[in-house]
Amino acid sequence: METKTMFSEEEIEKETDRLYEHLQEVGWTREDCKLIAPLTLEINKLKKEKNAIILAHSYMRPQIIFGIADHVGDSYGLSKAAKETDAEIIVFCGVEFMAETAKILNPDKTVIIPDREAGCSLADSITAKDVLELKKKYPGIPVACYINTTAEVKAVCDVCVTSSNAERILKNLPGDKVIFVPDKHMGRNLAKSTGKEIIIWDGKCIAHDEFQEEHVKEVRKMFPGVKILAHAECDPSVVSLVDLVAGTSGMIKYIKEHGAGTYMLVTECGLSDRLQVEFPESKFVGTCMICPYMKKITLKKILDALKNPSPDLIIELRPEVIEKAKKSLERMFIIEKGPVEKIE
Ligand code: SF4
Repeated sequence: METKTMFSEEEIEKETDRLYEHLQEVGWTREDCKLIAPLTLEINKLKKEKNAIILAHSYMRPQIIFGIADHVGDSYGLSKAAKETDAEIIVFCGVEFMAETAKILNPDKTVIIPDREAGCSLADSITAKDVLELKKKYPGIPVACYINTTAEVKAVCDVCVTSSNAERILKNLPGDKVIFVPDKHMGRNLAKSTGKEIIIWDGKCIAHDEFQEEHVKEVRKMFPGVKILAHAECDPSVVSLVDLVAGTSGMIKYIKEHGAGTYMLVTECGLSDRLQVEFPESKFVGTCMICPYMKKITLKKILDALKNPSPDLIIELRPEVIEKAKKSLERMFIIEKGPVEKIE
């Protein structure tokens, strides 16, 4: 790592202390923190100079979450933060569909993703053409798309949903049938929780799909009293064994309400790291899975993207796609509030 730095020894020491206060909870030494201190200092300095904001998904590495992020959350929380920001530049530390969502909500701002290879197996599983064919096959049935879809797919769906509001929105849609794309597990979980007939697509999250019933059963045996919280992207057989099925923000709410204890988070490893820092009195146990796309984002790539973003890191979308995809996102903020008789 680069040892020459524009910062004084005093600044480095202070930053090291700030980082260490958080990162020691996930096994970092003070020495580890000192190595990244010049990077986080420079990113935070550049952020101010360029009027940029850094949005980070909970699955990011802890040094991103606790070192440089302005907002940390799930797709829903970050969409809201993207909608409300006054910053001129949004650096999205997450995957590409999330950065696209920020661009749809802020077409006049510069939205940067630090690595264009940060994709998503769910978003890659379906195209706009596939959705149009589904609509032809099932005319008149509302189409809800998970936020883990490309802007082009959002543009041809009626309403977008996130793991935090999917159940509410599907219940609020007219009729007793819904086309839900692209996550097959989430679609099957939603069929159970909403009581509606859900026409699903064959997409899956490569991280959540890895969890098996045995993982949950073993942890229950090893840690009596453990509370097991699973993401809605997991297979229904796993979901049927847990104490809560929710998105990441639902899991955080549950932990806040239930207080200190032993928890297993059946989701991407980044969330356990984040929550081990934020809830040091609790213990996070068991298996978690790594999303290789999320982990493409590093401090070094964020610094390069802020300093001098190459054109391929800047999110560009066609105006007609922005306009139509924005409608499906705006309907999300409306339909989550109450039932609608038809989709306007
Ligand atoms: S964790 Fe799964 S859903 Fe999230 S970005 Fe990775 S592959 Fe996509």
